[in-house]
Amino acid sequence: MWLQVALVSFLISASQVQAEDHASLRHSNDAAGRCQYTFTVSSPQETSCTGDNGRPEMEGVLSRLTLLEALVSRLIAGAGTRSDAEVGLPETFSQITGERNQLRMDKDQLSRQIQELHKRVTELSHETESLRQKPCLQTNTSADTRRKLNHRLASDLENDFRNDAYQEMKAEVSEVPASHLLPDRNGSSCGELLSVEDPVLHRKADGFTGKYGVWLQDPEPQGTQYSNKTVWRIDTVGKDVRQLFVYEDMKQFTHGPPMKILLLPEAVESTGATIYRGSLYYQRKLSRTLIRYDLASESLVSRRDLPHAGFHGQYPYLWGGYTDIDLAVDEQGLWAIYSTSKAKGAIVLSQLDPENLEVKRSWETKIRKNTVANAFLVCARLYTVASYTAVNTTINHVFDTATKTGRDLSVPFKNKYRYNSMVDYNHAQRKLFAWDNFHMVSYDIRVGGASK
Ligand code: CA
Repeated sequence: MWLQVALVSFLISASQVQAEDHASLRHSNDAAGRCQYTFTVSSPQETSCTGDNGRPEMEGVLSRLTLLEALVSRLIAGAGTRSDAEVGLPETFSQITGERNQLRMDKDQLSRQIQELHKRVTELSHETESLRQKPCLQTNTSADTRRKLNHRLASDLENDFRNDAYQEMKAEVSEVPASHLLPDRNGSSCGELLSVEDPVLHRKADGFTGKYGVWLQDPEPQGTQYSNKTVWRIDTVGKDVRQLFVYEDMKQFTHGPPMKILLLPEAVESTGATIYRGSLYYQRKLSRTLIRYDLASESLVSRRDLPHAGFHGQYPYLWGGYTDIDLAVDEQGLWAIYSTSKAKGAIVLSQLDPENLEVKRSWETKIRKNTVANAFLVCARLYTVASYTAVNTTINHVFDTATKTGRDLSVPFKNKYRYNSMVDYNHAQRKLFAWDNFHMVSYDIRVGGASK
C-alpha cells in the first residue's frame, strides 16, 4: 500500500514540475478588492496541450510512468514472495530441527549398537580362543551335566569297590614292595611333597603354537651327545606336532634359537611327553600307542599300546586338550597316568618298563581324572593339581603306591599365567617343570623334610 501512495505522490510532483516549466499561476486583488487567480501559458498552442512541442515530453513522461509501474509491480510481487517465505520459515525451521534431533537420536542408538557389537566380538574372540584350547569332547558338556556325570560315576565306582569288582587290581597292588619308598638311587631322602615354591620364568613362547607344550631336561641322560643341561621343547598346538627343539643349555633356551630341531617319526598327542635316560616318550596322535624315541640315534626304538587306555578326549584332565595319557618320571622310573573304561574315568597309574614300554604294575585311584588339572609323581606318589587357571591353587590329592591309599592335600601351588597345560617332575633337580600359558616355568619343591 505505501508503495502505491508514493507512486501517486511522485506522479503529482512530476506533473507540477512539467507545469512549472511552461505555465504560471498568480493571484492578486482585482479592482473591487477581491482575490483573483490568473493562469498564464507561454504560447497560444499550449492551451490545448496537443502541440508538437508538448507531445514528446508527455510521451516521455508516459514512458517513464510505464517503466515505474512495471518496477512497482515487480517490487510488490517481490515483497509478496518474501512475505510467503517469511510466513513458511518458522514451520520449515521447526521441521529441520525435528529431523536434526531424530538424526542425533539415531546416531546415539547406532553408537550403542556399535559398542554392543564390539563387546560381542571380544566375547566371541575369547570363546573361540577357549574352544581352540579345549578341542576335546568335554567342551560340549555343560558344567552341570559334567557334575552330574561325575557324581554318577563316583557312585558306580563306590558300588564296584563294595562288590569287589576290582579284585584283580587289588591283587596287582599287593605285589608292590613297600621297600621302594626308601632312599632313592641317588641316596637322597625320598618322602612326601611338603611345599612348592613360586614359579621361575625361563622363556616365553613367541608364537600361537606355544600356547601350550612340553619342556624338559633329562634327569638321567645317557651317552655323551646330550647332557642333563640339554633342554628339550615341543610346542603342542597344531594338527601334526612333530618338531622337537633342542637347546644346548638353559642359557641358550632362555635367550636364543635352538641348536637343532629333530623331526619325530610320529605326531605327538598333547602335553604328556617326558624325557628319560636318553629317550623321548610320548603318546602317538589319535591312539593309545606309546612311542619311545631314542634321542642319540634319532630313531623310533619301541612302540606299544597302553592296554585299555582312553585317548583323544575320553579321559582328559580338567582342561581338556586330549590329555588322556600323561607320562611321568620320578626317582622310581617311568609312569603312565590315564584312565580306562573299566576304571570309569578314575585315574589309573601304571609303572612302565622304560625299555619296551610294557606295563609292570598298575594302581587305580579314586581321583576322577577330569576333575584335576594335571598330575606328576614324586617318590612313587601321585600328586594332582586342583586348577589350571587359578593363580592360587593347591596340590589337592596324593596317592601313595606303597600304601595303595590316597588322601586329600592342600599344598599351595601357583598358576601365575593362568593356563597351566603341563606339570612334570625332574627328580635330579628336585623341580617341577611347567608350561603355563606360553610361559615355560619351573618350581623348586621340598620333599620329605629335606630341601633340594
Ligand atoms: Ca604331567
